[in-house]
Amino acid sequence: MKCTRCKAPAQVQLRAHNTNFCRDCFLFFFERQVERAIEKERMFTRDEAVLVAVSGGKDSLALWEVMHGLGFQTTGLHLSLGIGTYSDVSTEKTVAFATAHGLPLITVKLADEGLAVNEVAGLTRRPACSACGTMKRHYFDQLAIDRGFPVVATGHNLDDEAARLLGNVLHWQMPHLARQRPVLEPTHPRFVRKVKPLFRISEYETAIYSFLRRIDYVVDECPNAVGATQLVYKDMLNRLEAASPGSKLTFLQDFLSRAQPELPSANADGPPQTCVQCGMPAFGEVCGYCRLVRETTAKRERRAASGAA
Ligand code: AMP
Ligand code: ZN
Repeated sequence: MKCTRCKAPAQVQLRAHNTNFCRDCFLFFFERQVERAIEKERMFTRDEAVLVAVSGGKDSLALWEVMHGLGFQTTGLHLSLGIGTYSDVSTEKTVAFATAHGLPLITVKLADEGLAVNEVAGLTRRPACSACGTMKRHYFDQLAIDRGFPVVATGHNLDDEAARLLGNVLHWQMPHLARQRPVLEPTHPRFVRKVKPLFRISEYETAIYSFLRRIDYVVDECPNAVGATQLVYKDMLNRLEAASPGSKLTFLQDFLSRAQPELPSANADGPPQTCVQCGMPAFGEVCGYCRLVRETTAKRERRAASGAA
C-alpha cells in the first residue's frame, strides 16, 4: 500500500476518501482539511481571538493543536464538570496540554460554583446530560462575551454531526435542523459566533491524528453517556460506513448543501429574549441555566432544613 500523495509506504488507510497516506502526508491532509473548513465557511480569521472549548478528549485537543499550529489566536476554555474521576482526568489532560504548548487556558470548576453536574442532576432529578448541556452552553456563551472573544470553537466532528442529523431527521425536528450548521452567527447581543471546524473530519481521523501527534487525551467515554441514544445512532452510522465507505460524509454534506437552504430561517421564531436574572439569552423570562441554579439551590436548602429538623 503506497501513499496516494508521495508514493512512500502508506501507514493510514482512509476508505471514506479512497486514499492512503504516509504519516507526514496524513498530518498535512488533516491540517489542510481543517484550514479549508475554517476559510471556506468563514469561521474566523487570524485577526480574531478564538475561544476553543476543550474537554480533554481527542477531538477538542486535536482541534486546539491544529488551530495553534496554523497560527490562529487561541485561548482554551475548560469546564471541570464534576463527573467524578472522569472529570478529574479530563482536567488534568487539558491543563497538561496547555502547559506543554504554553497556551492560555481558562478553567472553571463547576463544583466551586456549587454546580457539579452529578450533584445538580441528582438534586433536580434531571438527566445528567441535560444538566451538563445547559451548563456548557451557559459558560461557553458567558465567558466568551465577558472576556471579549467574538467566536467559540468546539471539537464536534463528523460522527457527532451525522449522529445529530440522524436524530433530528428521525424526529423531524425542523427548528433543530434549521440550526444544524458548522457556523452559527449570533442572534442576541450576548451571543457570539459558534463554529465547528472539525465537522467534516471523522472521529477515526482525529484518533489517528492525536496518536501521530502524541496528544495525551482522556480515553474513556463520559460515564453519564452510557446508553445514550446518540451512541446508538453513531453505531448505526458506523455500520453503514463499513458497508459503504463515505456515507457519513455524504449524508451530512448533502444535507448542508441541498436540504438546509430549503429550510426556514434558524431564527424564524424571532431572536431570544434576555434573562431577567443573568442578562444572557433566554427562551422565556428566565434562562435555562438560571432555572437550573434556582432549582438546585431550593432543593439543597430543603434538604438542609429537613436535616436540621
Ligand atoms: P461533547 O458534548 O462531549 O460531545 O463535546 C463536544 C464539544 O464540546 C467538545 O469537542 C468540546 O469542544 C466541547 N466540550 C465538551 N465538554 C467540555 C468541557 N468539559 N469543557 C470545555 N469544552 C467541552
Ligand atoms: Zn439567566
